[in-house]
Amino acid sequence: MQNRKLVSTERAIRPRFCYTRNLGTPGKIEQFARLPATDKVVNYEKIDVIESKPVREPLELSLSLIQAVLESAADGIIAIAPESNIKIYNQNLVNLWRIPEEIMASRDWHAVLDFLVDSLKIPDIFLAKEKELSENPDLESNDFLELKDGRVFQCYSQPLRMEMQIVGRTYSFRDATAPWRVQEAIEYQAWHDLLTGLPNRDLYQKRLSQALAHSIPTKNKIAVMFLDLDRFKTINDTLGHTIGDRLLKQVGDRLTNCLREGDTIARWGGDEFTLLLPKLHSHQHVMAIAERILASLKPEFHIDGHQIHIAASIGIALYPTDGKDSQTLLKNADAALYRAKEQRCTYRLYAPDLNSQATELFALENSLHYALERKEFILYYQPQVDINTKNIIGVEALVRWQHPQLGMVSPNRFIPLAEETGLIVPIGEWVLRTACQQAKNWQNSGLPAIRIGVNLSARQFQEPNLVETIAQTLAQTGLRPEFLELEITETIAMRDVQLAKEVLGRLKEMGVQLSMDDFGTGYSSLNYLKTFPLHTLKLDRAFVRELTVDQHDLAIATAVITLGRGLELRVVAEGVETLEQLEVLRDLHCKEMQGYLFSPPLPVEKVTKLLEESMANDRTKSP
Ligand code: C2E
Ligand code: MG
Ligand code: MG
Repeated sequence: MQNRKLVSTERAIRPRFCYTRNLGTPGKIEQFARLPATDKVVNYEKIDVIESKPVREPLELSLSLIQAVLESAADGIIAIAPESNIKIYNQNLVNLWRIPEEIMASRDWHAVLDFLVDSLKIPDIFLAKEKELSENPDLESNDFLELKDGRVFQCYSQPLRMEMQIVGRTYSFRDATAPWRVQEAIEYQAWHDLLTGLPNRDLYQKRLSQALAHSIPTKNKIAVMFLDLDRFKTINDTLGHTIGDRLLKQVGDRLTNCLREGDTIARWGGDEFTLLLPKLHSHQHVMAIAERILASLKPEFHIDGHQIHIAASIGIALYPTDGKDSQTLLKNADAALYRAKEQRCTYRLYAPDLNSQATELFALENSLHYALERKEFILYYQPQVDINTKNIIGVEALVRWQHPQLGMVSPNRFIPLAEETGLIVPIGEWVLRTACQQAKNWQNSGLPAIRIGVNLSARQFQEPNLVETIAQTLAQTGLRPEFLELEITETIAMRDVQLAKEVLGRLKEMGVQLSMDDFGTGYSSLNYLKTFPLHTLKLDRAFVRELTVDQHDLAIATAVITLGRGLELRVVAEGVETLEQLEVLRDLHCKEMQGYLFSPPLPVEKVTKLLEESMANDRTKSP
């Protein structure tokens, strides 16, 4: 082997650029290196000496070969072996990183490296990686680096070995901006909701798992919140999906502004959002955030010339008290939301008994099918009072379901189910018949004739024979139409304005009273309000509740009452609970009220007593 040494053979070549072939490792994939312009081909092999001319020094040759190989690479390459003071790079490195000539010319390696690090968008990521590699020098790495100018480089780095010793590292950089952006777009779509740009359900669950993994050692509290917009469907139904979509986006923006760094808000689907608040100190902390969120939705939204009010309900579960894993926390936050929705525009923390109720509710739909024939529904009646005379001038019939296992179920829980399944139609007919019959019974027993309010759901309103059913019921029970007041909501009226006008017109002709329930919470065009033959506006309790403390609510209540008076409608304020509320409403010239201050909804015997008392009270006042 002694006579084998690295030599070159010289041949005349054409064309100007040629390739040398390294045959040094038989069987290995052939590698080609591009040489700078030369007028000879140098073929390096371990071959016996066939020297024709004296050749250059082996070291010089090796270096020039290395340089040639480096220059032939498409990537920008740099090799650094600090101990041996070796730094090698190629022109592509300079071009790719756009390293200014003066820096290269200075041959100041610190300046070069500083320039590279300074060009990075987040240098800390790269520096942390470098630290890790310096502690584990035999690792290879393959990373993407984002530059301040928007480009993305793929950086492949591996140990530089000489005679089996690691003496430094080589780095090769490649512009991967285009594939990175494609990948980024794909990833973005996979993890985000495209309408709002917020994280989607999958990303939320991933972040929740990460937060739980971090929290276990540190014992931080984590809040999982479900937020659902109240009556979003109304907006979709009345103003259309485009406006509904834009509202969702704006809601997402407002919610995002309520959060701290490190919190996550995701769109779970439809009008439901989930929030993840890691690193909480206390229950009070999460309650303050929930309140901030509810308050942030209060100012009206302006979309396409529409002024839209929307409120939300929030259910909250806390780690570790309400669950130790994602699924339990989500399930419990959902159960709490369910409870919050019964009140609307509020938040609820999870309490252990909620869960069993939520599970039972699952079985509710089944039993709802049999509830009517098993006579499980009853009507409660809530008085409406004239605050000047203190007399009961009407009652609203409110259905209750006496469930054999669950006890008394609120209509907020089963009416939506009944609507979905269509069961609301027979249930609604039963309510109407029972209420009319009861009103007639009171009249027959000598009590003063008062109006009875009956709620109509959207589904009932679409029944083609609704008017006939009502006429029949009045005829069968003998109740005069002026004592029946049908309560409809803005959703019903706005869903199909033409149909609403026609049906309401026929009902008015029949002599039935018509009332707009929960007024102010949906979206109604004031112009249509004028064209519907209404008798009454019911100011929703959402505005009454904070009337005495919230300027916005006071402004809305004032506007509704003024509007009602202007249109010569009765205005009934709902949900009056305190004397302060009563006083404010009285000052606004609202004189008919309904609420716990006077009486909650009561079963028939109790409300009959109240009616008797009211009659007696009236008699004592008369001369
Ligand atoms: P609604 O028609 O707006 O009825 C008023 C609701 O407010 C009743 O709830 C009543 O109990 C509650 N309320 C009254 N005063 C106060 C108060 O001072 N404070 C508070 N916090 N709440 C008060 P309820 O009985 O749970 O009924 C809820 C809703 O369910 C009703 O709202 C109505 O939309 C629907 N509903 C009830 N009965 C029927 C029915 O027979 N048919 C249809 N379609 N819907 C019904
Ligand atoms: Mg009502
Ligand atoms: Mg109401």
